[in-house]
Amino acid sequence: MVNEIFAKFHEVATSPRAQMDKYIAEGKKVVLTAPVYTPGEIIHSMGFVPMGAWGGDVQLDKAKEYCPAFLCSIAQSILELGMDGVYDGASALVIPSLCDTLKTLGQNWKYAVKGIPFIPMTYPQNRKPDYGVKFTRAGYERVIKDLEAIGGVFDNAALAESCKIYNKHNEVMRKVDEVIAKHPEVTAVQRSDVFKSAFFMSAEEHTALVEELIAELEKTPAGEADMGIVVSGILTDAPQLNEIFDEMGMHIVADDVAAQSRQYRTDVPCGDDALQAMAEKFKAMDNCSVLYDVEKKRVQLIADTAKARGAKGVVVVMTKFCDPEEFDYPIIKRVCEAAGIPVALVEVDRQMVQFEQIRTNLETFRDMLSM
Ligand code: SF4
Repeated sequence: MVNEIFAKFHEVATSPRAQMDKYIAEGKKVVLTAPVYTPGEIIHSMGFVPMGAWGGDVQLDKAKEYCPAFLCSIAQSILELGMDGVYDGASALVIPSLCDTLKTLGQNWKYAVKGIPFIPMTYPQNRKPDYGVKFTRAGYERVIKDLEAIGGVFDNAALAESCKIYNKHNEVMRKVDEVIAKHPEVTAVQRSDVFKSAFFMSAEEHTALVEELIAELEKTPAGEADMGIVVSGILTDAPQLNEIFDEMGMHIVADDVAAQSRQYRTDVPCGDDALQAMAEKFKAMDNCSVLYDVEKKRVQLIADTAKARGAKGVVVVMTKFCDPEEFDYPIIKRVCEAAGIPVALVEVDRQMVQFEQIRTNLETFRDMLSM
């Protein structure tokens, strides 16, 4: 039974286009959501199916006409896939403004991909003060206006309902992370599928499937990984990377990955004004390289999580040319090593076909952790 559930996650994670076609055939409209924090609750409440667009493992060709070589491959591959028609049929693409690369992506998209409107979500740098919350709310109001232009209908009560659905999804994702940590038989590939499939299923459907998985896993006794690791980065979905973790006997006991647990850490608070509650949620969010924080509390969280979950080391999976992550890496290394937690760094991008250097790095790291 558990293998059937993992097979379902794998099928969805590896065939997003089939999922999109399914929703469109059901008469639903799909709105693409780019990294890192798009307001899925708003999109969902207005009658659309939000679907993650974090690029894909493709060679870059047409996108090079628009992007300098030093833009990260996630942004470039989103543009490439858009120009290739891979997202055709989607009603819009929402791009948040949380890093400089994402700011340029929307402008390029407008000219390069004509059939799918670009909706900007402009977040404030200072999200905590009242003026930051007002700014966030104004950004959401702009998104709502653009979604209304493509047939969406906004209603405060519907948004409150969607927030509950998303909070429930957050809760099960946090729970499945905890449960998998105690089940070393779950592979890194399987764990990646559980998280990646969340981008391509409705929150309700994904919640139900994750609940089934948790129930099945909890029927078997918990175990302890010989070599638990914490993985940190923006994206860690490359199958070859996860296969190497499995080959090395490394079990992911927690992650600080933008496409994984960072999405599910913060719930929308209760309140009569659901849109205000959404803005308050963004104010409350923390511990991410793209969320401004002079104290870099994220770094301590990584070290504390590694200790709490009994991890032997931290693997930082660096997306090449990702400035926000590159700035944080030296601090992560310093703080974790001071806490007695070894750190390894591997670099990835969406065009990578050769993973031998990563294999060698992780082999050495495994040997170090085994000593
Ligand atoms: S990987 Fe880094 S540079 Fe690229 S879009 Fe994400 S945060 Fe921005």
